[in-house]
Amino acid sequence: MSSSAKDARSIDHFFSAPSGRHDRWRDLHSIARSWANGDAKRAAVESALEDLAVLEEFHAFPGTELMTALRERLKNDDKPGFLALAKRISLDIITGNYKQDAGEWQKADLALPDPADVLPPALGETRAYRPYFELLTVTPAPAARWPHIASEFRRLRRQEDAFIYESVLVGSLEDAVCAAILNPDIAAVAIYEGFALRSRHDAPVLRNVLATQHPLLLESDEADLSLRLAAGLKAIRPELDIYLLSDRRVEKLAGDPRAAIIRRIMYQIEEPLELHLSLLEGIKARFETPFFDNLKLYAQRPIATFHALPIARGKSVFRSPWIRDMGQFYGINLFLAESSATTGGLDSLLEPTGNIKRAQDMAARAFGAEHAFFVTNGTSTSNKMVLQALVAPGDIVILDRNCHKSHHYGLVLSGAQPFYVEAFPMAEFSMYGAVPLRTIKKALLDLKSEGRLDRVKMLDLTNCTFDGHIYNTRRVMEECLAIKPDLIFLWDEAWFGFARWSPFLRPRTGMGAAADIEAWAQTQGAIEQFEKQRAELGNAPSADKLLQTRLIPDPRAIRLRVYQTNSTHKSMSAIRQGSMVLVRDVDFHTIEAQFHEAIFTHASTSPNQQLIASLDVARRQMELEGYGLVMNAIEVALDIRREINSHPLISKYFSIVGADGMVPKEYRSSGFVDFLAPGTRWDDQLRSMREDEFCLDPTRMTLVCGTAGFDGTSFKGLLASEYNIQVNKTSRNSVLLQSNINNTRSDVALLISVLLKICGSIDTRLKHGGEAEQKAFAARVKALMKDVPDLPNFSHFHEFFRQDAGDKTPEGDIRTAFFAAYSEKQCEYLPIDSPECDRRLKDGPDMVSANFVIPYPPGFPIMVPGQVITQETITFMRKLDVKEIHGYEKAKGLKLLKTDVLAGKKSANHEKARKK
Ligand SMILES: *Cc1c(COP(=O)(O)O)cnc(C)c1O
Repeated sequence: MSSSAKDARSIDHFFSAPSGRHDRWRDLHSIARSWANGDAKRAAVESALEDLAVLEEFHAFPGTELMTALRERLKNDDKPGFLALAKRISLDIITGNYKQDAGEWQKADLALPDPADVLPPALGETRAYRPYFELLTVTPAPAARWPHIASEFRRLRRQEDAFIYESVLVGSLEDAVCAAILNPDIAAVAIYEGFALRSRHDAPVLRNVLATQHPLLLESDEADLSLRLAAGLKAIRPELDIYLLSDRRVEKLAGDPRAAIIRRIMYQIEEPLELHLSLLEGIKARFETPFFDNLKLYAQRPIATFHALPIARGKSVFRSPWIRDMGQFYGINLFLAESSATTGGLDSLLEPTGNIKRAQDMAARAFGAEHAFFVTNGTSTSNKMVLQALVAPGDIVILDRNCHKSHHYGLVLSGAQPFYVEAFPMAEFSMYGAVPLRTIKKALLDLKSEGRLDRVKMLDLTNCTFDGHIYNTRRVMEECLAIKPDLIFLWDEAWFGFARWSPFLRPRTGMGAAADIEAWAQTQGAIEQFEKQRAELGNAPSADKLLQTRLIPDPRAIRLRVYQTNSTHKSMSAIRQGSMVLVRDVDFHTIEAQFHEAIFTHASTSPNQQLIASLDVARRQMELEGYGLVMNAIEVALDIRREINSHPLISKYFSIVGADGMVPKEYRSSGFVDFLAPGTRWDDQLRSMREDEFCLDPTRMTLVCGTAGFDGTSFKGLLASEYNIQVNKTSRNSVLLQSNINNTRSDVALLISVLLKICGSIDTRLKHGGEAEQKAFAARVKALMKDVPDLPNFSHFHEFFRQDAGDKTPEGDIRTAFFAAYSEKQCEYLPIDSPECDRRLKDGPDMVSANFVIPYPPGFPIMVPGQVITQETITFMRKLDVKEIHGYEKAKGLKLLKTDVLAGKKSANHEKARKK
């Protein structure tokens, strides 16, 4: 085995745990077959089995009994017996059948498992369907006793238990952490005091990981091991229920504030049944979906409706000869669950007090927020709600000009002034990255130097960006808070909601970083760090000095106010438009009334019940299996990256851009190159995620298709129409692939086979077409890859909309500009290809855009209302070969505000802002 293959297989190779496990079993199975055929030696089987046995210690199945049976058959040279058992176990692991069928755990039964059910039993079907989880037991008992302990738990099972579980036993803190990372089925942990610190296995990367996950995990002394382990496990998987069993004075332990993260502390010799019942109750607390549960009850009740919703109960549908197919298509439950009632067990989304409130509170718990709000009109609405709730006319918001349109429109609605900052450009793909921290700090320092820092209310950024750039959210917030301690942050995490369930991505979410900053601010060291830096910086540090320093905020002065929006439907199992606003804001009580006004403004008074239920259910799923699902999505992405970039034919025409191509070097201080670069260890990825200014979300893959002669839009069309493959957005020469919690390795196989087919046909065409065809192909590739237009930066607002702005800062009154366009008299049209357009650019007067102009792709506004149009923008538009441009009618031309109108009057908003 090569050293890198060995590396990938060591127990601490955490990034591809489940598929790595499947691969090992497949390997064992195939070596066993060779052994049975006489092609392989027993030693080879032995080594494959031992290699795998270490990993299996962290899983309940196949367990000691079956592993012992395997070893015995090997020892007795029972080739067919070994092969049969290895085959059965590996199939069981891949199908997950053992989770439903206790018979699979017994060695005597050699029948092959049936394929696992893809669909759960239908409603009303009597077959018991009990979800399965694993209990991690950390114990000082000798390993020889572990099978006995596991069987003790099994004996406690009762018919009426809602869930079943099996136990995984380990004897040390390090093994417990490994198990929690490697085994996504673990849902609860029982810690018996007295266990060891170090792993029994050699795990070279493990300690690096422990260091990144929790400082307490790395301390080498043996004090307080239980509490340290509990803290470490919670840092890695906050959803786990932790039980502590001690023979010390448990009352005293329970009073320790560090024990707050433990679900229950028990006296060790207490009834084991007590622990069993607590375990099941803990799972139930996550399984429960207050709104969905109630909706199901509601649907079963006979109810006559006299409110305005004819399809409720389905009568208008099923009785109709004309629309009955709708009923047949969706099924009766959809109609039984439709209601406009907010009583009789259903709650009101606008003023929740019952089960919606409880569902939201559970979502807040799950996502690490103080408050969660369900939104049924997508994150487009969530963003507008947050902006309206927190900023007023005249306030300044620093935001990425390249952000989703809901932010721009949110500012038009609220009357706050955008201070646009630019993301770093990726001109070769006609797209933008993310906004460098230096740019953000400079914006704040410029405002400060003009004495206008009090006007800035919010920093509003997209995390991660469409193309996968993840901010260092903690660093951004810390450094900004060092300049303005009460700045509010809005992190648009439309795509990134799932990140909460990866311990590696979580610190880079808005909520994750807020929790870390809060914890830091409470340490004694925080004040010392701040004071030390203050002394170093001296009395009046220059702006330059501040830009170069990694600023530490004053932990006593900061007001941590963090908002995060996510399109639950984009990365979790919610129905389209299901979205959430998550809040960690120490001053939330001061704006709560405003926040409710914002809900009243934007939320429909007829929110869709199924959507609310799906948000509730999406939360349940993530709390119970999100960790494994997200790990799987990352594995699938790494598979796709590997297959495309290493396939001899596919890589001739296509490639997935590596981290080095997506994030310029200056923002990758860790030196990380790419997930698959030679010599890269997976803990290098962790370091990048931890340290770098921007890191790349592995699940978002930019597939370059320009090198195969396709522009993004037509390649997307080809995949959809010919091969039933849907991809995400496109750029001029790339498409975005995204792996999700629903992807499987079969999806990867399908994609690869399709790309292979396409490459094959290009190859043939070029071979048969001769020199002419090859020349044409090369020219097309060059046009797509090299002749790319420069991306136009935001120019500036027209002076008329800046009368209230600072001299050196670019904010402007976008709302007044937007409404100025409502008077046709004040507007004119100018085709971009006209000589008049060139003349105006050269000699004036300024051309001032009357509205947003947003080409798709790339999808960011190249003009906003009130913006002065420059040569750069016109050049970009002329080169742009896309058909869909929102806000621009080709026949009429650009819609402009007449400058003579602007010359005369004053901006109304400006007057108001002045008076404030
Ligand atoms: C999709 C998206 C939105 C809007 O979310 P919807 O749920 O589609 O309304 C907002 N911001 C970003 C960054 C998005 O990608």
